[in-house]
This record gives sequence, structure tokens and C-alpha cells, in this order.
Amino acid sequence: MNLELSEEQEAVRRLAEEFVRREVTPHAAAWDRQEGVDRGVVKKLGALGFLGLTVPEEYGGSGGDHLAYCLVTEELGRGDSSVRGIVSVSLGLVAKTVAAWGDEHHKRAWLPGLTSGELLGCFGLTEPGTGSDAANLATRAVRGPGGDWVVNGSKMFITNGTWADVVLLFARTSDAPGHRGVSAFLVPTDTPGLTRRPVHGKLGLRGQPTAELVLQDVRVPADAMLGPEGKGFSVAMSALAKGRMSVAAGCVGIAQAALDAAVGYAGEREQFGKPIASHQLVQELISDIAVDVAAARMLTWRVADLVDRGRDFATAASQAKLFASEAAVRCAGNALQVFGGYGYIDEYPVGKLLRDARVMTLYEGTSQIQKLIIGRALTGISAF
Ligand code: FAD
Repeated sequence: MNLELSEEQEAVRRLAEEFVRREVTPHAAAWDRQEGVDRGVVKKLGALGFLGLTVPEEYGGSGGDHLAYCLVTEELGRGDSSVRGIVSVSLGLVAKTVAAWGDEHHKRAWLPGLTSGELLGCFGLTEPGTGSDAANLATRAVRGPGGDWVVNGSKMFITNGTWADVVLLFARTSDAPGHRGVSAFLVPTDTPGLTRRPVHGKLGLRGQPTAELVLQDVRVPADAMLGPEGKGFSVAMSALAKGRMSVAAGCVGIAQAALDAAVGYAGEREQFGKPIASHQLVQELISDIAVDVAAARMLTWRVADLVDRGRDFATAASQAKLFASEAAVRCAGNALQVFGGYGYIDEYPVGKLLRDARVMTLYEGTSQIQKLIIGRALTGISAF
């Protein structure tokens, strides 16, 4: 693996860094307090091509490789995890999955809108009764007269839920046990019978819209199915494997922001007659953060490299997601320690970093689930 960024990758990274410094970081605290990112930022991201990375240009995408995608995701996560998550879901979990599994009709219908930011996507897998055990989901699609599907059920914790124009929805289409009975559908969110209830009071990612989706006799045309009937769980798992790379990159961004903040504050704050940066135990906190940042970034880049070379990457993605998410929580906690009492009030950025980091060990597979995926790959034994 070449650890030097190419000129194009460095140019994309710098463009993202500048955009985030200008359009995201100055607003992140206010968006967090008011529980809502300015939606206009989504179109600006689309105009720069950041919502179309790795999607083929013939469908409105901006091409690029997965390392470039990770670099942009890291910069977004460094500025505001809420914005990073909106992109990771709409591009990472929805548009990329349409590009990978969709037929010509799906790609033409959804990709130009999703990659420009005109449209936003959400990913509907989790339900009130099934989180980690997603294969046992209960939402059901039954074939109605004329070949349409009629869907009933509900989905919980859906990022972008109240804003999205389309949901990549997973529903049971047969009684085949476990994942074999699950199919995927692309459902416009204005379809009659689909209602959305905002979820408020999140610990972090407060700028990001999260919703419960309720589906009551929602009619979905047969051609809305994404991938073959009964293969929906494979669609979901392939989306999540790449999604874990994206979460890991976002965690590197949080950890880097924690490092920037800790180094900056330690140089300015004086105690015992000298900057706290000159106390050895403060340097220990800072160096622990720096090592976590570097290790998490390398694991994430390794996944991107495997994806770009068409190699198996699912276990590496779980490793990167597990390490980077736990590291982001550690780094934000260490940075808060450097800030002392000032870290505990929201005038300073580190408290938000810690709140935003905490969910990373929970979604797209909890840390326990990542360990079970890695353990299964190593031992050949499924211990779920
Ligand atoms: P549970 O599955 O009930 O787990 C509870 C605990 O039990 C965890 O510690 C877990 O690790 C542990 N556990 C469960 N099974 C095992 C086992 N076999 N062995 C060991 N430990 C186990 N979902 C979507 O579909 N789309 C989204 O866009 C989305 N966005 C989200 C945004 C936010 C802010 C949050 C909080 C969640 C989001 N989710 C989304 C849902 C998320 O993926 C789930 O919360 C997650 O998969 C965990 O499921 P659960 O919350 O039901 O916890």
C-alpha cells in the first residue's frame, strides 16, 4: 500500500478541509444546540461533488476512489459529525448501494438527485424489536393485486429520516427463516401510508435528523425492489461493510479534532506558572490521542485500499470501525481532561466531540457485534 496521497487525493482533501473550515465548523455548536443542521449545507456539498464520490460520472457522480471518500469523510467528521453522518448515510449507505445493486431504471431515477444534493436518502433497517439481530426484522411486504407490494411495519433510529426523499427499506417478503426472507426496496418517503416521527433528545449528533418510520399499507411497485427477491440482507450487509469504513473515517475526524483542540488549549492555559503543555502528564494525554489518531487512520486507509483494489474488506472494515470508534471516545475523553472544567461546558468544543463520538460504538453494528464478526472470520464459528 502506498501511504503517500496522490495529487488528486490531496487536492480533494484540501478542498474538503477548506469547505469545512468555512461552512461547517463555525456553525457546528449552534446546529448542535438548536438540534438542526442548516439544510443548505447539503446542496453545497453536492455542488462540490462530495455527495457523488465513487459514484460513476454517467449517473451524476464525481468518480474518485474510496481513499478520497475517506479523506472527505474525515474532514467532515472533524468539523461536525452531524454533517458527516448525513453524508455517510445518503451517499455511503444509499447512493453507493443503488450504484452497486440497482438496475438502469433505479440508477437513472435516484442517483443524479442523490449525488447533487437535490435529494436525500435514508437507510431503513433497524426496527423497535430488532437492532443487532437485524436479520429477524418484522416489517413485511406482501404481494398485492397487479404485482405491487404492500408494506407494513416500523423502522427505528433512521438517520435523515425526517428529511429524506427516499428510504432504502428492508422488509420480509417470505417466511424463509432469518435473512433469506428479506428483500430491499427503494421507497419515496411521500408514498401514502408512510409517516415519520422525529426522535428528539439524542446525547450527540443532535444536528442530524433522526426518525421513526411507520409504514401502514404502503404500496410499492414491483420495480422498486433493489437486488433480487430474498437477497435484501446481502444488500444491507454489503452497504454496512462499506458504511463501517465511512464511520471509521468519521471517527478519525473526531479524534483529530480532539487532538487539535487539546494541543491548542494546552499551549495557552497556564497552571503552576507554566503552560499545562509543559506538564508531563498532560503530554501523556496528548500523545495518547495522537497515537490513537494515527492508528485509526491507518486502519481506515487500509480498508479503502482493499476496496479500491477489489479485495475482501469486510473483516478489515469491522476492525477499523471497532478500533476507530472506541479510539474516538477515548480521544475526546482525553481532550476533555486536558480542558479540565472548561471541557465540561459547551462553550468549548470537546464536550460535543465526546457526545458525538459515543454513538459510533453503537450504530452500524455495536462494538460487540464487530468483535463477533472478527471472531467468526478468525475461528470459522458464528457466536452471535
Ligand atoms: P441491541 O441490539 O438491543 O443491543 C443492546 C446491547 O446488547 C448492545 O450492547 C449490543 O452490543 C448487545 N448485544 C446484542 N446482541 C449481542 C450478541 N449476540 N452478543 C453480544 N452482545 C450483544 N439504524 C438504521 O437502520 N438506519 C439508520 O440510519 C440508523 N441510524 C442511527 C442513528 C442513531 C443516532 C442511533 C442511536 C442508531 C441508529 N441506527 C440506525 C440503529 C443502530 O444501528 C442500532 O441502534 C444498533 O444496531 C444497535 O441496535 P439496538 O439499539 O437495538 O441495540
